[in-house]
Amino acid sequence: CGIVGYIGGRQAQDVLISGLAKLEYRGYDSAGVAIREQGGVIDVRKKAGKLVNLASELQATPLPGTLGIGHTRWATHGLPNDTNAHPHASEDGRIVIIHNGIIENYLPLKAELIARGHEFRSETDSEVLVHLIEEKYAGTPGDLYEAVRLALGEVRGAYGIVVTHADHREIVAARTVSPMVMGVGEGEMFLASDVPALLPYTREMVFLHDGDMVVLHDDGFRVTDLAGNAVQRQIEHIDWDA
Ligand code: GLU
Repeated sequence: CGIVGYIGGRQAQDVLISGLAKLEYRGYDSAGVAIREQGGVIDVRKKAGKLVNLASELQATPLPGTLGIGHTRWATHGLPNDTNAHPHASEDGRIVIIHNGIIENYLPLKAELIARGHEFRSETDSEVLVHLIEEKYAGTPGDLYEAVRLALGEVRGAYGIVVTHADHREIVAARTVSPMVMGVGEGEMFLASDVPALLPYTREMVFLHDGDMVVLHDDGFRVTDLAGNAVQRQIEHIDWDA
């Protein structure tokens, strides 16, 4: 339902929680974050119920790191519990994803992945994405963008997806049907499913179009279509308040 992503110099958990709080009006049943630590370990924390449950746990025992992704989930497939909350991690814990929307062909994909030896932890449609990306990444070692692009070629449905990998200081995102906006800062970049999450941090925004993919680094971004062709998107200045 709500997505926030951050890469830059601030503590990511603060940006994620404040951004997700701005998206609470959309409704949700659980919340979670994944934060990449300096050394390249990814920690996931997720909880059913109100965002404040997760926020107070993060306040008591913070997850340090300046790259992260966060989600408020509105369950469509699978109960609203801790396990089904996003982010979802690959079996080795090195890739994490958050997904808004519905993967329509998740049942056949899941059956194929299980037949190839993948173990599923959640009941969500979303979890097929992380297993597919993990598989593709094995064939494109070092290229997370390409792994995500190839995985998205196999899914049908609506998605706003954000992905990160323990070995890379970058966030890869894509959207089809589900909305996604990028915030452009100085030495920092943001993603969100809606503008209000980012207004306290930046007013320079790029609205991603249907079928756009983007790779975020601390000091820049690159947009392509799902075929891998470079795409130009304008930075717009937002002068209204939420
Ligand atoms: N379909 C996914 C799930 O049920 C994502 C729901 C959402 O958009 O929050 O976990």
